[in-house]
Amino acid sequence: MAFYEQQILEYLQAHKEEIFSDLLELVKAPSPSAQPELSNQCAAVLRKIVKNRLGLEPDRVISQPTAGDHLVFRYGTQEQQILVIGHYDTVWEKDQLPIVEKEGALYGPGVLDMKSGDISVIWSLKACKELNIPLDKQICVLFNSDEEPGSHTSRHAIEEEAKKSLAALIAEPAANNGDLKSGRKGVRFYGVEITGKAAHAGNDPLGGASAIKEAAHQILYIQSLSDYEKGTTLNVGVIKGGSQPNVIPDFCRLEVDLRTTTVAEAKRIHELLSNLKPVDPKCTIKLDDNDEGRLPFEETPESLKLFQTASECAQRLGFQVGKAFVGGGSDGNLTSSVGCPTLDGLGAVGSGMHALNEHLDTESYLPRIAMLAGLLTQL
Ligand SMILES: [Zn+2]
Repeated sequence: MAFYEQQILEYLQAHKEEIFSDLLELVKAPSPSAQPELSNQCAAVLRKIVKNRLGLEPDRVISQPTAGDHLVFRYGTQEQQILVIGHYDTVWEKDQLPIVEKEGALYGPGVLDMKSGDISVIWSLKACKELNIPLDKQICVLFNSDEEPGSHTSRHAIEEEAKKSLAALIAEPAANNGDLKSGRKGVRFYGVEITGKAAHAGNDPLGGASAIKEAAHQILYIQSLSDYEKGTTLNVGVIKGGSQPNVIPDFCRLEVDLRTTTVAEAKRIHELLSNLKPVDPKCTIKLDDNDEGRLPFEETPESLKLFQTASECAQRLGFQVGKAFVGGGSDGNLTSSVGCPTLDGLGAVGSGMHALNEHLDTESYLPRIAMLAGLLTQL
């Protein structure tokens, strides 16, 4: 098999200015997750860049009212496909962060998470195209606009494409030390709704049933299901309930964040939460499990093979990459949950995701794009 990484890197270095100007243009288009109007302006920029660089129009535009359009592009017409995913939404409001370049870093909203990854995808294909490097598989590129809140409206399209794909590559940022992400915890939010009985706190203290007192029992139980050694954590992060100090509260709602490292553990805890029993028999408990969440992204022999191939590409480019299992979820959880071998963290290196100092390490950016392109040539 031929190796192309060096040739690709030289090509990227010769086009460095265009790559960074594409990136800046995309970062300058604000795209907070739940703001369709702004997001669609950003989607238009993304479409323009893909058109300019790859000559492609979207194969599908998935429009929906609560987020920007999700875009699906197809590079090549081969029957078998590899899925490459990037989200273009960010956690930042318009004008919330300045865009600044200094000391080998580019700061800005979504510059690391993950507009640089989107540009990596485009330029990895651009390099292959211009250098006439043949790819064995069709590359299906999916850009979604609702990853940060949980990919609720793009989930179906992602799962559908993943089921048809031999592998899924996620261009999320690498770990801070540059490691690729070979696994992620599963994340799911639950609501626990407790109903009691209201009564006058002074005149009829025994006539009611306090939903808040019941919640106190349930909170301690739910938290106790955490197993830090296994990586299972439950956090009751929000409590809402009651009306007045002199009223025995008839309602209380808890919001729970569950993280697990294996699918089996996610299912075990789900069962336990589905069977919460009230301590006070006058209270009732209902579990709100409407959020589907993201199941854990577990390492498999196939996903490790992807990592191995990527790390060999990096070695040929003169750097080493390790692999990391991380706590935060991504669309890699969705692709791996439908059985598609997945490798994540193939975007840029930097730090400060979701933080005020979010930035991209500019030095390592082109070699990372070359690694992604190299990986595409090996699949
Ligand atoms: Zn991200």
